[in-house]
Amino acid sequence: MAQRILEPGEIETLAQRSIPRVRLPARATVFARRASRLRDLSTSIGIGDYLRFLAVLVDAQHSLLADLSVCIPTPAHLKASAGHGMPPIQPAAWPRTDAWFETLKGICDALAAHPEFPLGVSETVSRLRRAPREWIEAQADALLQCGDQAIDGAAAPLVMAALQVHWAALAASFTADAVRALDVPGLCPLCGSQPVASVVYAQSPYQGYRYLHCALCATEWHMVRVLCSRCGASGKSIAYQSAMVGAKQENDGSAAEAAVRAETCEQCRCYRKILYQEKDPQVEPVADDLASLNLDLLLGQSGYHRASGNPLLWQPNGN
Ligand SMILES: [Zn+2]
Ligand SMILES: [Zn+2]
Repeated sequence: MAQRILEPGEIETLAQRSIPRVRLPARATVFARRASRLRDLSTSIGIGDYLRFLAVLVDAQHSLLADLSVCIPTPAHLKASAGHGMPPIQPAAWPRTDAWFETLKGICDALAAHPEFPLGVSETVSRLRRAPREWIEAQADALLQCGDQAIDGAAAPLVMAALQVHWAALAASFTADAVRALDVPGLCPLCGSQPVASVVYAQSPYQGYRYLHCALCATEWHMVRVLCSRCGASGKSIAYQSAMVGAKQENDGSAAEAAVRAETCEQCRCYRKILYQEKDPQVEPVADDLASLNLDLLLGQSGYHRASGNPLLWQPNGN
């Protein structure tokens, strides 16, 4: 019997169909895993105190998420968003309830319970506790819109942490099948935010596939490898560098053993980090990105720019 040979395009289509497109965050583990990873990483590198502070912040996120209920989008809202090619929960337009403000207070309380933290932390907590609600809402608006102006850089990680709790709760209320792909593959299909980094998973059904991790809602979405998540360039424009061996390219094998690498793009001269679970099963995008700031320094010295910032480390030009 004659067999029809599949054309290359058909093979790719079949392969794409079998790849889970979206991984939604689990309320029970999304922040717990991150806090645990921050603690583990804090024991081995020079910025351990900073990572332990962040672990306390993420612990607070985990506790506050446990009891949080959020208003989920109505079917009519979802239909309207899809009709306009927009993600279902756009941060700039989605109404924030009083609950998010209470979450921020809870984060401040959790940090205030640690007098061993540097003075700057208690000063920031005091400033946030005294701040008018309007000022805090304006800070949240500016962060969600990636605006540079008038952002309080010290308060930004705390405000962002409170926002993350709410958007993770929203994301966890969806089912993966209900999340449509956007026309812009480098943006989160659920909230339209930028990814903080990407992960290549080692376990079925995700083995060998790369997922971008949303900086706001922690949704992960599939993107093929060796492709710039910012401008879409591929092939020879893409290279990999790691801090283990200095800024060398993967082509010579020198970066291939590192669990955290930078995927650089010659077309837009930007990079995002890519984590390999095969090299370290515990990698976590937000935590490992923060713990590898030395790699950012190397890339900066080589003339590359971060494609987008880390939600817990606000930098004027990194967002
Ligand atoms: Zn998102
Ligand atoms: Zn690019």
